[in-house]
Amino acid sequence: MARKRVFSGIRPTGQIHLGNYLGAIKSWIELQDRYECIYAIVDYHGMTTPYDPAEMRANVRELLIDYLAAGVDPERSILIVQSALPEHTELAWILGTVTPVSWLERVPTYKEKVEQHPDYVHLGLLSYGVLMAADIVLYKAEVVPVGEDQLPHLELAREIVRRFHHLFGVRIFPEPQALVQEDTARIMSLTEPEKKMSKSLGPRSLIALADPPEEIRDKIMKAVTDTGPAGEEMSPGVANLFHLLKLFGTEEEYAQLRAEYDAGTLRYVNLKRTLADALIRSLEPFRRRRAELENDPAYLERVLREGIRRARVIARQTMEEVKTACGLMLDETSLWQAPVGTAAAGGKEGAGTG
Ligand code: ATP
Ligand code: MG
Repeated sequence: MARKRVFSGIRPTGQIHLGNYLGAIKSWIELQDRYECIYAIVDYHGMTTPYDPAEMRANVRELLIDYLAAGVDPERSILIVQSALPEHTELAWILGTVTPVSWLERVPTYKEKVEQHPDYVHLGLLSYGVLMAADIVLYKAEVVPVGEDQLPHLELAREIVRRFHHLFGVRIFPEPQALVQEDTARIMSLTEPEKKMSKSLGPRSLIALADPPEEIRDKIMKAVTDTGPAGEEMSPGVANLFHLLKLFGTEEEYAQLRAEYDAGTLRYVNLKRTLADALIRSLEPFRRRRAELENDPAYLERVLREGIRRARVIARQTMEEVKTACGLMLDETSLWQAPVGTAAAGGKEGAGTG
């Protein structure tokens, strides 16, 4: 039997950080043996927030290197750049015609981005979730490994699929499920620990996987700990540092410092020093592999060319089914005749009426 498909992607908006790794890429790597995995560099999504076109391609290349250095294996997984496959936007348009605007206005990330960039509110930002739904269902992916912030987008994708099926009287797509790692679903920012670590909060707020040791140390030493008066509960900044220490430090290091915290004798500088050392140690192999890949541009090109080629076969098949169901033209070779073996779709009665 064919393996189930996995799809996930990251925006080429800067260096990937601990949140991206722990929330998403770590599961990507684990899933490679059991699923047919497609991992994308989603540059169309990167266009939805202000960006510099001159930097986009370099960012795509850096993100590809990050994927590979982290352990995404092009022998087992398909790696793509979203904009190289026009089927993503083609399907997004079609899905957009079945998605009520009111569903999109409710999406929390949309509201956040509107607040972040009040002068950059556009149709593409509103329809972000439709494009993301298209990315996933284009490959009929069933599992989507992501951080917690993406759950509303996955819920939206399932609603869009159900509505598409209902309106066109077909069943083409599986309903995609998010795969969220409970203990690493949400890593917090170092500078604003009540917000999630994000590329767009700036380099001081995050540890990039590629950060050199002295930078890791500097950022951890300057991380926000207690913001208000000491209370009963551990502050979000300290909790985040302990969380990272649990993931990257040794069991003894964690137990020791945690006991000091409970006894009220912990000096934050010790927590930070231990964490910085642990991170520098853990990220060393990644930095090494990254440096090797930087020197092998021919390999990088081969990986993407092959990935895009393999993805295109799947994408075209899905689009043929979708376009047939919608009464659209496939290409110049089949203008009026419906492809053999397709029942006339049930019609799109009630489309757009909620
Ligand atoms: P941007 O600020 O440009 O949106 P980002 O850091 O939020 O960047 P995305 O490309 O939006 O990164 O997300 C890539 C993946 O990383 C998604 O699956 C997302 O859920 C996950 N992710 C992002 N930030 C975190 C975090 N702080 N903790 C856990 N997972 C995260
Ligand atoms: Mg994001």
